[in-house]
Amino acid sequence: MKLKSLVRDIPDFPQPGIVFRDITTLLNNPQGLRHTIDTLAEQCQKQDLVPDYIVGMESRGFIFGTPLAYKLNVGFVPVRKPGKLPGAVHAVEYELEYGTDTLEIHQDALETGAKVLIVDDLIATGGTAKATADLLAKIGSQLLGFAFVIELTGLAGRKVLPDVPIISLMEY
Ligand code: IMP
Repeated sequence: MKLKSLVRDIPDFPQPGIVFRDITTLLNNPQGLRHTIDTLAEQCQKQDLVPDYIVGMESRGFIFGTPLAYKLNVGFVPVRKPGKLPGAVHAVEYELEYGTDTLEIHQDALETGAKVLIVDDLIATGGTAKATADLLAKIGSQLLGFAFVIELTGLAGRKVLPDVPIISLMEY
């Protein structure tokens, strides 16, 4: 199945000159959605990347991370934007093109040493994934790898990530 044919390109979003890769057209296609999750799970198994927990970032990391966790029979842990998680949190601030952003995780979301796979829809500069890896380092988890549905290779985001395996299903 050609997953790329289900991703829609939206020019000039969110600003002029950017081509946004829109995965809503993949999500609303039953075969596309199933094939995406099944292929992520197969890759995890093939590369020995089955963790104790999937960690997904708000908000599109939730969409792919939770069904992948279900399929692999492991737990799911959300990493959220500030002020959303009700318990005690660790936070990490990271650089955006203009300004900074913050991500949070529950301090007791997983036990020290737990094996974790970070999942998001797309890696661009790698800033979001790197910040999530930094959060997990704060709580002493063992990062097995990353899985993305889409990788924008021109931005070389994987270069800023820790040296662990990276799964990506489509490259642009
Ligand atoms: P990064 O931190 O620069 O790697 O950006 C990745 C984050 O931005 C992910 O959480 C994506 O959901 C979002 N993102 C950036 N560009 C796109 C795009 O073209 N399509 C969908 N999401 C994007």
